[in-house]
Amino acid sequence: MELLDGTPVAKRIREEVAAASRAFSPPPRLVVLLLGSDPASETYVAAKKRAAEEAGIRADTVRLAPGSPPEALLAAVGRANEDRDVDGLLVQMPLEAGHDRSRVIDSIDPEKDVDGLHPENVGLLHQGRPRFVPCTPAGILALLDHSGVPLAGSRAVVLGRSGLVGKPLAALLTARDATVTLCHSKTRDLAAVCREADLLVAAIGRPGFVTADFVREGAVVVDVGINRLTSLEEAPPNLRSSGRIRDAIATRGRALVGDVDFDDVSRVAARITPVPGGVGPLTVAMLLANTVLAARLRRDRDERAP
Ligand code: NAP
Repeated sequence: MELLDGTPVAKRIREEVAAASRAFSPPPRLVVLLLGSDPASETYVAAKKRAAEEAGIRADTVRLAPGSPPEALLAAVGRANEDRDVDGLLVQMPLEAGHDRSRVIDSIDPEKDVDGLHPENVGLLHQGRPRFVPCTPAGILALLDHSGVPLAGSRAVVLGRSGLVGKPLAALLTARDATVTLCHSKTRDLAAVCREADLLVAAIGRPGFVTADFVREGAVVVDVGINRLTSLEEAPPNLRSSGRIRDAIATRGRALVGDVDFDDVSRVAARITPVPGGVGPLTVAMLLANTVLAARLRRDRDERAP
C-alpha cells in the first residue's frame, strides 16, 4: 500500500500561488466572514488566514457576534461584494441555526465566490467550463493528478452527494472521462457498488465507515472525512482497537479520523490518503489558488472597463 500524501502536493501548489500573487500590486485580498464562535470554524479560519498570508495574499477575517441576525450577515456579504479592494469572499460554514445557507450563498458576488458554491459557478462547472471550483474536490483532483492516478476510462465511485464535495467531484471526474457512480444514504448494496471502483472517494462524515469489504483489491481510496472523536466510546467498534486513535485521545484529548477504516482498508487498497494529511491540506491550497484566480479576473475586468 502506498500513501497518497497531500502535504507535499499542497506545498507545491502554495509555492506556485505565492509566485503568482507576487505579480499583483496591491496583493490579492481575501475576506472570510465568520459568524459566531464555533471552535472548529475558528481553527479552519485561522488556518486559511495563515496560509493566505504565507502565500502573499492579504486575508481579513470579518467577525459577527454569535446570535447575529440573518440581515447582519447578508449586509456584511453586501459590503464585501461592493468593496473594490476585495478579490475573494467566503462565508465560513456551518452557519448558526436560523440562517438560510442558500440565501447567504446566493448573495455572494459570483465573481468573488472563491468557495465555488454560488449557483452561477456550480452551473459553469456542470457545463464543463469551470470558473471557481469548490476547494475540496479541486484539491482531490490535484492530488490524483500529481500522484499520476489515471482517470480516463476508470470506474470512480463517490460516496456522499453534498454540494460541497460529492456532486462537484462527480462532475470533475466525469469531465475527465471517468465513469462515475454517485452514492448516498439510500444507495442499495452500497459495499458491492463501492467494490466496483478503481477509485473510491468517501465523503460522508461517518468515522471508519468504509471497511475492506467496500474496496476492490488494488483500488485507489481517497478519504475526505474529518471526524473528531473525544472518547473511544464515540468510535465505531471497528476503530476501537486502533492504537493511533487511542493514543491521540489519551495525549491530546481528541482524535481526527476519516470515513475510511485506514488500518483495515490498507490491507487491500493500492493507494490511500491518510487523515489528517491527505485531502485537508489540498483544500486550503485550492482556496489560495481560487483567490489568485479571482484577483486575475477582477483586474482583467478593471482593465477592460471604460
Ligand atoms: P454532508 O453535507 O453531511 O453530506 C454527507 C453525504 O454522505 C450525504 O450525501 C449523505 O447522504 C451521505 N451519507 C451519510 N451517511 C451515509 C451512509 N451511512 N451511507 C451512505 N451515504 C451516507 O457532508 P460533506 O460536507 O460532504 O462532508 C463529508 C465529510 O467530509 C465530513 O466528514 C466533512 O468534515 C469532511 N470534509 C472534509 C474536507 C477536507 O478538507 N478534507 C472538506 C469538506 C468536508 P444523503 O444525501 O442521502 O443524506
